[in-house]
Amino acid sequence: MKKPIYKRVLLKISGEALAGEQGFGLDTETINHIADEVKNIVDMGVEVAIVVGGGNFWRGRSGQGMDRTTADYMGMLATVINALALQDALENIGILTRTQTAIEMRQIAEPYIRRRAVRHLEKGRVVIFAAGTGNPYFSTDTTAALRAAEIEAEVILLAKKVDGVYDSDPYENPTAVKFDELSYLDVLRLGLKVMDSTATSLCMDNSIPIKVFGIDKPNNITKVILGESIGTFINR
Ligand code: UDP
Repeated sequence: MKKPIYKRVLLKISGEALAGEQGFGLDTETINHIADEVKNIVDMGVEVAIVVGGGNFWRGRSGQGMDRTTADYMGMLATVINALALQDALENIGILTRTQTAIEMRQIAEPYIRRRAVRHLEKGRVVIFAAGTGNPYFSTDTTAALRAAEIEAEVILLAKKVDGVYDSDPYENPTAVKFDELSYLDVLRLGLKVMDSTATSLCMDNSIPIKVFGIDKPNNITKVILGESIGTFINR
């Protein structure tokens, strides 16, 4: 039987990936599917931390005419809604889970404490990081890069609606070509829509590999964990 190639991973799930086909809000079936996928790899002994996005409810840049900082705080709150939904789905299938928020809201979740997060992971609990970095002008992709570095995750699993990185938008261009492997500099130079440049630079500077793959196909998270080459690998 194949063995996991990673011991500790950081899974980034965009808000969009939680919305399913409707493109907005939360789709229960989709969330349950993701929870099942996470259970598969937890059962293999992999330590899993998750960063959730918030774009299925709100993005800072959607707040036209609004104060940007206020709009970004709204985005961070959206990630907390997603984190709680995911926590609930994971606990429903027996996975021990802790949510930690970068902005204190103690009645709802623990505050982010790195050492405590690592301890939870060591005990086999899934840790969900919510409220981004706690700072406006950042993204949850940057949060994923930052938390991955802090908890010494071996890889960022970037679960997307699209099944990898393409040279142009595959929804708009049917001849778009998928990359199997890329360097961080390729992503920055070609302006590829994988992560924003802050997040990509943080991964580059700290040598954190990124696996980009589609979340909607069954068992994709497991496949990545077992070393199957699906999606796009960014690692140099
Ligand atoms: N956000 C922020 N600081 C952070 C992380 C997120 O201000 O450290 C805000 C920002 O407004 C962003 C929103 O939260 O647009 C939702 O996050 P993101 O767009 O990264 O979610 P995703 O695209 O992954 O669903």
